[in-house]
Amino acid sequence: MDLGINGKIALVTAASRGLGRGCAEQLAAEKCRVAICSRDGVEIKQAAEEISARAGTNVFGFGADMSKAEDIGRLLEKVRQTLGEPEILVTNAGGPPPGTFASTALEEYEKALNLTLMSAVHLIRGVVPAMKTKGWGRIIAITSISVKQPIGTLLLSNMARAGLTGFLKTIATELAPDGITVNALLPGTHQTSRIEQLAKHRASEENKSQEEIFQEMMAANPSNSIGDPSDFGAAAAFLASEQAQYITGQNLLVDGGNYRGLI
Ligand code: NAD
Repeated sequence: MDLGINGKIALVTAASRGLGRGCAEQLAAEKCRVAICSRDGVEIKQAAEEISARAGTNVFGFGADMSKAEDIGRLLEKVRQTLGEPEILVTNAGGPPPGTFASTALEEYEKALNLTLMSAVHLIRGVVPAMKTKGWGRIIAITSISVKQPIGTLLLSNMARAGLTGFLKTIATELAPDGITVNALLPGTHQTSRIEQLAKHRASEENKSQEEIFQEMMAANPSNSIGDPSDFGAAAAFLASEQAQYITGQNLLVDGGNYRGLI
């Protein structure tokens, strides 16, 4: 299916690896003009070259830390100068550290809000004016299954993503008349370095090997598997498509059936 986004300018943040990269690869495969960022300027340029080579398009990589508002401002300026105003935005950032109420220090709360919630607010505020002028835009936020089913050991992530979900739903209604859709993609368990980090944490807490934790993760999922970032990216590309113009304000789980709730 032709998604109708050939030539659209797309910005995917936190995309040198993992789910962000999966989204960038799929958008590049659809011949979008893609910009990506992550904190490490060298790693992101390497990632951009690899995606470019695979997709046969020019992908641009920029160094920017999503927990810093000034970096986000500079990133948007560089994207505008290099490619133009983003028409598709996929917001992503590394997740906050794991922890419980007992183990989380007070200063960690504000850091988590800056990284996970405020980064998306700054990015969206930066791209919406031009999307409104064009009467077309696609905003997709990578959140988590935890917004439907909080995860006990991820207090900060649960908190910040719940706030982000409320923000996204509210602006989806406000921006719909401008041809701008706003949706969230909710990963379950996907094969990325973030999941390796969480598996390592669980392994030391539960005195098990990482391999055992991965086996348990797979066994707990109805599909008996861990997700692939490229499948996740394909869902993002669809939400960015022309055909998805009537889908907004939604939270789409990509989790192999892991969430057991009704809606
Ligand atoms: P990952 O660790 O594989 O990749 C994270 C990417 O973000 C990397 O490119 C890294 O360089 C970049 N990054 C990290 N911190 C950054 C920052 N401050 N500024 C800019 N770039 C930064 O992680 P992932 O698994 O792809 O996860 C992406 C998001 O999805 C995270 O918020 C994670 O918590 C969430 N999530 C992931 C899963 C999963 O199964 N992988 C499940 C639920 C939620």
